[in-house]
Amino acid sequence: MNDFSNNPYYELFSKQHINQYAVGNRTYKERVKLLNKLQHAIEVTYRTEIQVALQNDLGKPVVETELTEIYAIIGDIKYAKKYLHQWMRKQRVETPIAMLGSSSYIKHEPKGVCLIISPWNFPFNLTFGPLISAIAAGNTVIIKLSEMTPNSSALMAKIVAALFSEDEVAVLQGEVEVSTQLLKLPFNHIFFTGSPNVGKIVMKAASEHLASVTLELGGKSPTIIDETANIDKAAKKIIWAKFLNCGQICVSPDYVLIDESVKTQFIEACKKWLDTFYSDNPKASDSYGRIVTDKHFERLSSYLENAKTLQAKFEVDGQTDSALKYIGPTIISDLKSEAKLLEDEIFGPILPIVTYDSLDMAIAYINSKPRPLALYIYSNSKANMNTILNNTRAGGTCINNSVLHYTNHNLPFGGVNNSGVGKSHGFFGFKAFSNERSVMTQHTYGVTELLFPPYTGFKEKLARLTIKWF
Ligand code: NAD
Repeated sequence: MNDFSNNPYYELFSKQHINQYAVGNRTYKERVKLLNKLQHAIEVTYRTEIQVALQNDLGKPVVETELTEIYAIIGDIKYAKKYLHQWMRKQRVETPIAMLGSSSYIKHEPKGVCLIISPWNFPFNLTFGPLISAIAAGNTVIIKLSEMTPNSSALMAKIVAALFSEDEVAVLQGEVEVSTQLLKLPFNHIFFTGSPNVGKIVMKAASEHLASVTLELGGKSPTIIDETANIDKAAKKIIWAKFLNCGQICVSPDYVLIDESVKTQFIEACKKWLDTFYSDNPKASDSYGRIVTDKHFERLSSYLENAKTLQAKFEVDGQTDSALKYIGPTIISDLKSEAKLLEDEIFGPILPIVTYDSLDMAIAYINSKPRPLALYIYSNSKANMNTILNNTRAGGTCINNSVLHYTNHNLPFGGVNNSGVGKSHGFFGFKAFSNERSVMTQHTYGVTELLFPPYTGFKEKLARLTIKWF
């Protein structure tokens, strides 16, 4: 038996552990009431404070905050409220004829005490999104926020403390050590969003208690542009998706794999759209953000240095300003395969362009790397789309657009292997925080009782008949 008495968070965990059945037995109406409270807080009470916190942490333009944080959370809540009654209902299933006299159903019951560890890049969306699923499914939750976005984290702590008692939902701030201590506790489910490297630490810790996990990770998400694509439209959508939140998005188009014959046209179109979106001086643009911390600024700057050393071609040379943690939109081609930009997840406003001679080459390139969270295809050829879909693996794919598949609540969101384990959003998020409990009820005398020992010759015959006919 583990002794957790020295763990600084055990008291809080115990409170939730005791309260889990009261929370888990909440009715549909009571759960909706909680979701309504959260909705009102985000949509009305704290909306302006959220905008200011994100401006301070990430230089996030207000419109981006409205769309990618406020609207995203409100959309999640509305969707959960619309379908929760259906999700909570007993899901009746057929019972085989050999079990005559019984009926069966699936009960989605809460997992219990859950841990949510969230990242910094969309701090509100990626904290409250899983929280909405956890509340809908009837769990108690401890949340560990990212230390990288102090203004947003402090505000989320304030919001949660104002809406929930700590034996149902509690927020913890602080450095990595807080996560390390929390991960020692026997949570029933851990929902982690962050990098693949930390995902491995989380999964290892979860294995100690055989806690289930949802790991929403990252990695390099490729974008294929074939020779049939509408190049101007592709460039417009890719420039938007790549430089949104300064490229600090898990489903950001990490790099472009383009048919050699349309490369020059694509780069020219990218330049045009960059100019249209952010003017010729993105640093002064209200629509362009900043890098989250000095550490990440230095990481991205080292990628640029590495590319220069390897004599890559800077098609668009975004300037940098360390004092402002500013890196302008940058497009680079002719990168050697050993370039850092082609190895690590970029998570910043730098777009490498890699060319291919045949689609098979592009597919082989993608399949030589870990399976991506997103794979984008820009094409007008159904045959090419199918060839790519059938010969690669990815968490999700958006065709002739980028990022937007994330926003459809009817689609599961998540990665595969290195880019993630498990799915979230809508019903898939509810499922992640639920145990699908099988319930079978015997109503009358069951025919299986005819097969109980002692195993006479008659029972042998009956067993053979059962195998043959039922
Ligand atoms: P990160 O893995 O560094 O940190 C995520 C969280 O884990 C933070 O709360 C942090 O405090 C905690 N943490 C860090 N090191 C830890 C350790 N050693 N032990 C325990 N906890 C630790 O990730 P990040 O920098 O916050 O976010 C960027 C990464 O997240 C990228 O890889 C990105 O692709 C990914 N991401 C994925 C999604 C998704 O939905 N799939 C969304 C956003 C970001």
